[in-house]
Order: sequence, then C-alpha cells, then structure tokens
Amino acid sequence: MKKLWVFLKASAQLVALYALCSWLITVGFGPGGLYPEAFATAGVLKLALYIFFMTHITITAMSLGFHRMHTHKGVVFHPVIDALMQVWLWATTSMSKLDWVSVHVYHHATSDTPNDPHSPVQKGLARVFFLGVADYSAAKSHPEVLKIRRKLPANRLEKFIAENVFVGPIVLGSLLMVAFGPTWGLILMTSTFLISPIFAVGGVNALAHFVGYRNHVTTDNSRNLGFVFILNWMICGELDHNNHHGHPTSCSFRHKPWEFDIGYAYIKLLSWVGLARIKHVYKMPRSRVAGPSAMLGPDSQPTPGLV
Ligand SMILES: [Zn+2]
Ligand SMILES: [Zn+2]
Repeated sequence: MKKLWVFLKASAQLVALYALCSWLITVGFGPGGLYPEAFATAGVLKLALYIFFMTHITITAMSLGFHRMHTHKGVVFHPVIDALMQVWLWATTSMSKLDWVSVHVYHHATSDTPNDPHSPVQKGLARVFFLGVADYSAAKSHPEVLKIRRKLPANRLEKFIAENVFVGPIVLGSLLMVAFGPTWGLILMTSTFLISPIFAVGGVNALAHFVGYRNHVTTDNSRNLGFVFILNWMICGELDHNNHHGHPTSCSFRHKPWEFDIGYAYIKLLSWVGLARIKHVYKMPRSRVAGPSAMLGPDSQPTPGLV
C-alpha cells in the first residue's frame, strides 16, 4: 500500500511538472516549439527513423562504454569519448556506470542460476521481456550487487551522474519540448526512454539467453542471434551473446567469419585514430571455424574469471 502511494505521488509530481513546463514552453516558443513544422508531415515515419537511429547510438554507447570497457576491460577509450558516452546514456536512459556495471558483473557471476537478476531460463521469457526493467532496478539494491558497486572506481562525473540519475533525462526532455513543442517532445522523450528496456533488456537479456546457436560451452544458456542482422546492427553486435559469455574479456563479439559485430568495427576505427586502445580480442582457432565440429569443440570452454 505504501509503495502504491509513493508511486502515485511521484506520478502526480511528474504530471504537474510536465503541465508547468508545457505552459511555459507554449507561452515562450509557441505550441510547436522552435521547429513546429518538423513533425507536421510524415510524423510517424520520422518518429520510426528517430527510434531506429537513437536505439543504435544509445545501445552502441552502452555496449562500448559500460559493457566492453568498464565491465570487461577489453578496450579502453580516450577519456573524452568515455565521458561523452556516459553523458549520452545519462540523458537517454538515466543510467549510471556504477549501477550498470555492478548489476552486469553480478549477471555474469550468476548467469541463469536462481540468483541471476534477469534470466529467462529461471523467470520465463515473457517476464524478462516485459518486466526485466523492474527486476534490473530491484537488482541495483541487492546486497551482493552493492558489494560489487562499492569496489568500482568512480571519477567526479561518474559520481555526479550516480547521485543525480534523473537530471539527464529531464534536461533532454526539456530540450526536446523546446525544439518540437510539448506534445512531440513528450512522444520523443518517452520513445527514447523505452529504448533500453525494450532493446537491451528484452533483446539481449531475454532473447539472447533463450534462443539461438552456441559456439562455446558455457555454464549458462547464452545464445548467438547475430543472424537477425538488422536487430543485431541496431544493438551494436550484442546479440552474439554466447560468444560474449564464452570469452567475456574479448572486445570483439565476432568469433566466426560470417558473424558481424558493428561495435568492434567502431572500436577498430577509434583505435586507428588513437581514441581507443584494444586490450583483448578472442581469435577462434582455424580448426573450429569450419567443418562439422565448428559448433562445439575442445576450445569451447568458458574463460575462467570475469574481467
Ligand atoms: Zn558482459
Ligand atoms: Zn548474458
């Protein structure tokens, strides 16, 4: 009952804040914001394109920054690139590095066991797909996750983001409302905010621990789904998830020639111009790449340790 009251109170405060901002923006810039014509024609198509590219940029920042650099240490980016990715994720998802990394380290340590915060094997595909974001939020305050969190290094920006997670989305939402008016601003902000629950939680945590093929023997049920090419491109190569669980410290999720990891292509590009340092890339032995034994073999044991 108390939880419901807190939820209703927070919702009422948000609605009041939105109404106040809408009124101020409408008075200041007009009902369509600074660019009232932007979504006047083909609005739905433009919204679909917005979601498509915003998903790619946002999940790319999550995959390269939070995942491949800060959790598994397979690559190190220039501090400016790292800070840009973290500020982007703060504005679009309200996520802090400290929360994301600690929950993800715990996921690897407990993958598909009853303690895993988001295992479709344990909780069912529908639960992780639709309510995974609630389980993720609950996991942030799990004692074991907090223990991991306390040991993580954090610079001043990272501490500030962790202590003010909702400031980022409020600033982004306000900018979108000023640019496109209260209605389209709210639609764009809501779409942006749903990217992580749908594509990161639903796509990677649910589907890639449930269906697909396996290159490596691991103690979990991770799968490769990279052949769903458009979805895998959108979420930066993260769908070849068995490759990742098999060799977590590799900053490339492409283990076979026909697999594709756009995230690693970006890492290579950034390393060529001196903005990234590659620390570890798994190379699958030639004998395992082709032939009938290609799917599973002696090399398919999981990498001991996590980072
Ligand atoms: Zn991982
Ligand atoms: Zn996983």
